[in-house]
Amino acid sequence: MKLSYQPFDLLLKHTFNISGHSRVSTPLMLVQLEHEGVIGYGEASMVPYLGENINTAVDFLSKVKIAKFKLPFDFAAIVAYLDSIAPGNTAIKAAIDIALHDLHGKLTNTPCWQLMQSKPALMPPTSFTIGIDTPDEMRAKALEARNFKIIKVKLGGEDDKERITAIRSVTNVPLYVDVNQGWTDRNFALEMIWWLFAQGVILLEQPLPKHDVDGNAWITSQSPIPIIGDEAVQRLPDVEKAVDVYHGINVKLMKSGGMFEAKQMIDKARQCGLKVLIGCMSESSCATLAAASLAPQCDWADIDGPFLTTNNPYAMPAFANGKYLLSDNAGLGLSLY
Ligand code: MG
Repeated sequence: MKLSYQPFDLLLKHTFNISGHSRVSTPLMLVQLEHEGVIGYGEASMVPYLGENINTAVDFLSKVKIAKFKLPFDFAAIVAYLDSIAPGNTAIKAAIDIALHDLHGKLTNTPCWQLMQSKPALMPPTSFTIGIDTPDEMRAKALEARNFKIIKVKLGGEDDKERITAIRSVTNVPLYVDVNQGWTDRNFALEMIWWLFAQGVILLEQPLPKHDVDGNAWITSQSPIPIIGDEAVQRLPDVEKAVDVYHGINVKLMKSGGMFEAKQMIDKARQCGLKVLIGCMSESSCATLAAASLAPQCDWADIDGPFLTTNNPYAMPAFANGKYLLSDNAGLGLSLY
C-alpha cells in the first residue's frame, strides 16, 4: 500500500458559531491509499478546538510506515499500530482508517455499510445544524433547512429562549439542541431542558462541562429528554464511563480514530444500554459517507457536513426525504468529479 495526502481548506456556508468558538473554514487532510492501482479515500477534519492542524497531520503521516501492511484487512493491528505512533491525533488516524475501509471495500467488491454490518433500510434521518446566531438569523437558517426532517440548534449563549422561539415561528420539525458544555448551573440547565421539552426538543447534547460528571448525571436522572454526552466521550474506553452520566453518546469518526473503533463504540454502547447519536465535524462527502455507513446502527444521525460547506471536493452523497441513501457500490460509494 502507498500513502499520499493533500491539505484542503473546506469553506463553510456561514460563519459557524458554537458555545465558545467561531470559524469560517475547516482544514482537511485528504488521504489516499493505493494498492495495485485501486485507491481508497479518507479524510481528516481538524476542528481547531481539538488540537490537530495541518502541521500535526503532516508530522503524524510522516511517521506512518503503511507499506509494512500488505493489505488493508487487519484493522485491529493497523489501528493498534497507528495508536503506537502517538496518542491523540484521532482525526488524522480516522483519515487513514476511512481510506483503509474504502480500499478494503473496493478490493473485495463490498460496500462499506456491509463491512460495518449495517442494514440500509434502518437509516435514520439526519439533522441540519444551525449555529448560534441572532434569533432573526437563526429563523432564516431554519427556512434553509426545508429538506430536513430534524433541525439541530446550537445553544449556550444568552437569549436561548428567543432563538428557539424564532425557529419555532417557521417550523414544527423535531429539534435537537447542542449546548457544547455552555451551561454551568445545573438548576438553570434543568429548568431550560423542561422548557425545551415543551418546545418539541427531542434530544440534548452536553449541557454542562464534560468534567462536571455529577452535574451531568444529575441532569440525566431528571431530564424528560435524552441527554447525550459528546465532548465527554471520545474513544472506546469513554463509553463505559458514560453509563449513568448520560442517556447516550455521540460517536464521531474524528474522535474515535475512524470507522473500526466507532463500530466498537456503538456495539459497546448497546451492551451498556446507552443510546447512540452519530455525529460529524465539518466534513466533505468522504467522511460523511463513512459515518453514513454506520448510521443505520444508531438511534439518531447528525451528519450534515456536505450541506454546510461550499467547496466539497467530491460529489454530494445521494439524499432523499431527509436521509442518506447508501449505494451498492464497493467501498464508501464516493463519487469523484
Ligand atoms: Mg455536540
